[in-house]
Amino acid sequence: MEYISTRGSKVGSFQNVLMKGLAQDGGLFIPNEWPQINTNELGSDLSYENLTAKIIQPFIGSEIHDDDLHSIISSAYKDFSSPDPVTFKKLSRGETVVELFNGPTLAFKDFAMQLLIPIFDYFLDKEDRQMNLIVATSGDTGSAAIHAVNKSKNLNIYCLYPKNRISEFQRRQMSTVKGNKINLCEINGTFDDCQNIVKEILADNEFSGKYNISAVNSINWARVMIQVVYYFFSALRLDNCESKYNFSVPTGNFGDVYAGYIAKKMGLNINRLIVATNENDILDRFFKTGQYMSREVVKTSSPSMDIQVASNFERLLFDALNRSSSDINEKMNNFKINGNISVNSQSLEVCQSYFSSEKVDMKSVEKVIMDTYETDGYLVDPHTAIGIHASRQSQQIENNFILGTAHPVKFLDTVEDSIRSKTNLLNGYEKLFEATEKFDSLNNSVDEVKLKIESSN
Ligand SMILES: *Cc1c(COP(=O)(O)O)cnc(C)c1O
Repeated sequence: MEYISTRGSKVGSFQNVLMKGLAQDGGLFIPNEWPQINTNELGSDLSYENLTAKIIQPFIGSEIHDDDLHSIISSAYKDFSSPDPVTFKKLSRGETVVELFNGPTLAFKDFAMQLLIPIFDYFLDKEDRQMNLIVATSGDTGSAAIHAVNKSKNLNIYCLYPKNRISEFQRRQMSTVKGNKINLCEINGTFDDCQNIVKEILADNEFSGKYNISAVNSINWARVMIQVVYYFFSALRLDNCESKYNFSVPTGNFGDVYAGYIAKKMGLNINRLIVATNENDILDRFFKTGQYMSREVVKTSSPSMDIQVASNFERLLFDALNRSSSDINEKMNNFKINGNISVNSQSLEVCQSYFSSEKVDMKSVEKVIMDTYETDGYLVDPHTAIGIHASRQSQQIENNFILGTAHPVKFLDTVEDSIRSKTNLLNGYEKLFEATEKFDSLNNSVDEVKLKIESSN
């Protein structure tokens, strides 16, 4: 598979794409073509692991030997709490929640991390090399990465999260993992600030070269690629891919729902992808008006989506602009200066032919959590609630899947406030709240983070 950068340069191998994270020219890596999957040939009893191999193999090509790839995949999901890593819950109002929170850190981010980190290790082993990962997190990516890196021989991690903008459960999932390879930094800023620090450090070739730094944010192509699998799996398990499906996807950085777009490009029979946002609605405004304009981040009850710059959006924009790198460069430069991108009606129509969007406010989140509890005795987290509400607003209930992105225990306060009673969700997690925490507090400053990396290497 050949990869290119959205900003125009040719970039070569999968290993390069995996380990660089962001292209040299500032763009995002993207495959030159979409491999095709014939869903008629999959078979409804295909295991999740075998399906994963089928979907991701074409993107990797001969860079990982087939047997090695199978063996990496077959152990990737062994720390999940269910036999199939993905489970399903049909709601009495008709939709199906795709439960993506059976992994060790209870959010969908485990799917990519538990597989991507062993793939890193595979390449690093071959070269007998160590590497430092840097990751900005709105809460869930960080813990998924930390738990995966903790099992790695060759990787260390620097993880940045915005102070007071993640839940205590999320923080403790990160801060209680001990060991020299784990470096956790609380940044006095927003998630977008953390993400900017990561981008600047990666763009500093001298520094990132010297310290062998790579990123595993959702800008990393390999993460998106791995997330394509559960779209196919859902359709396969529901009715052997016979219907047309809608997927409602709680969205922040546009990674997860963009994986759905790729699934459709690869041949899955998706009718519509519903981009479900909270009050940080830059994407909802874009899909309605063609104007992509960032505003101040507001704090909501779905903090993993409190994002105003959706990094993966550039990948969709690239396609909507007929893969013109010069247009992308112009638009992205403009965005850097004015915080604004607008596309013409033709490009907007391309986007709208795949995606619709809904913005869901905190009041509605509470109502959905309450309603789902009352009608189904089922507790959902605020992000998943946004997906459910968006699905209902969009008036397409037939064959609707909602991506259940996190376990409700991660956002316990919101869940218990919504149903106006206590739950027993915390049973079994006592240790997390007894363990001592370890993290550094830093200002919103690239230099302070660089200093941290220098001093611990
Ligand atoms: C990361 C995350 C999202 C948003 O996913 P993106 O890929 O950034 O759009 C939604 N819900 C939860 C629980 C998350 O952790």
